[in-house]
Amino acid sequence: MQQVDAIVAGAGIWGCVVARVLAEKGRKVLVLEKRPHVGGNVRCETDPETGIEIHVYGSHIFHTHIDRVWDFVRRFVEFNGYQHKVLARHAGKTYFLPLGLTLVNQFYGLDLTPAELPAFVAAESAKGFAGGRAPANFEEQAIAFIGKPLYDAFIREYTRKQWGTDPRNLGADVIRRLPVRASYDVNYFPDYRQGIPLTGYNSLFDRLLDHPNIMLECNVDWLAWRNKSLIASRQPLTFYSGPIDALFGYKFGPLPWRSLRFEQERVPTVDFQGTSVVNYTDADVAFTRIHEFKHYHPEDAAAMSAPSTIICREYPQAWKPGDEPYYPVDTPESRERLALYQAETAKMPNLVVGGRLGEYKYYDIDRSIDRALEVASNEVL
Ligand code: UDP
Repeated sequence: MQQVDAIVAGAGIWGCVVARVLAEKGRKVLVLEKRPHVGGNVRCETDPETGIEIHVYGSHIFHTHIDRVWDFVRRFVEFNGYQHKVLARHAGKTYFLPLGLTLVNQFYGLDLTPAELPAFVAAESAKGFAGGRAPANFEEQAIAFIGKPLYDAFIREYTRKQWGTDPRNLGADVIRRLPVRASYDVNYFPDYRQGIPLTGYNSLFDRLLDHPNIMLECNVDWLAWRNKSLIASRQPLTFYSGPIDALFGYKFGPLPWRSLRFEQERVPTVDFQGTSVVNYTDADVAFTRIHEFKHYHPEDAAAMSAPSTIICREYPQAWKPGDEPYYPVDTPESRERLALYQAETAKMPNLVVGGRLGEYKYYDIDRSIDRALEVASNEVL
């Protein structure tokens, strides 16, 4: 093997950004990816019939308020300006998320102004959560945010499907992802820097790795490879973004994840649902949402007017080792277990663990990039 200064194990967003930054610092980097392709779960495929970009592992929308992330990614791709909106089906009607004036007025049949909304929501919240202390779990936090009627309609059953448990068993953090707004702004994310790469997500990864100092090998599982290829003392600095528990043979037990199953379908119609994502918030529908991918590229006139469309129903499911991990399940027990693995990692000076799987964090793309920039810029080789 040619001499390398660093190994990047895992070519998802975190690994690709780490590799790029190191390469630009003049380091020779070997990137090893277990899958046959790079890009992790942001990987897409192009439908040969319509040209539609299919998000194979579920919808990924780039959005950020972090200047250095925005500046960094635009060195590699241009964004199409897509602004994400999420609709929700409940009791036979379609509503606009997130929780704001549009939803409240539509749901209650009111015509509140921005000035009137906070008092209305506060009164609804007080009916369901008395306050006087911090919300102790997901359900209390959600009711404190929006009141019980909206919680019952849009959150409780969706969350039960998504996480496979009663929302009272979940921490308050996850619901804090959802914005609550006193306006008619239905942009799902509070970031105006947003969009989908005009040339597709795959081009972002290909361009990140397109550097003379980067060597890429796919279909190589670093965990198996490291034992065979090098004696431990000669391992170059390694940036690992696989699951942190797998790194130690799950010796403290596996960290729990929530997994997903996607059911893709070609529908012989130009437009199936009129938007990219519709959430199904009631218990009588087993899936949580339907993605319709052509809407992510409104600038692509050919795909938009193609006579068929690709949709995908998303079914959350229990995770067991070997399944695809999607969402870390944040509980006191999982946090404790994570700390044990992190203590082991700290004993390995030649190893940096990061990314969604390595840090066991519910990361958006931009946070993952930001962490990678931080790690790779600080690292002294
Ligand atoms: N959520 C919900 N109803 C919805 C959308 C979201 O109850 O219609 C809750 C659910 O618990 C979910 C969390 O809010 O896990 C975060 O939602 P987000 O849309 O950020 O999830 P992601 O797109 O990352 O799966």
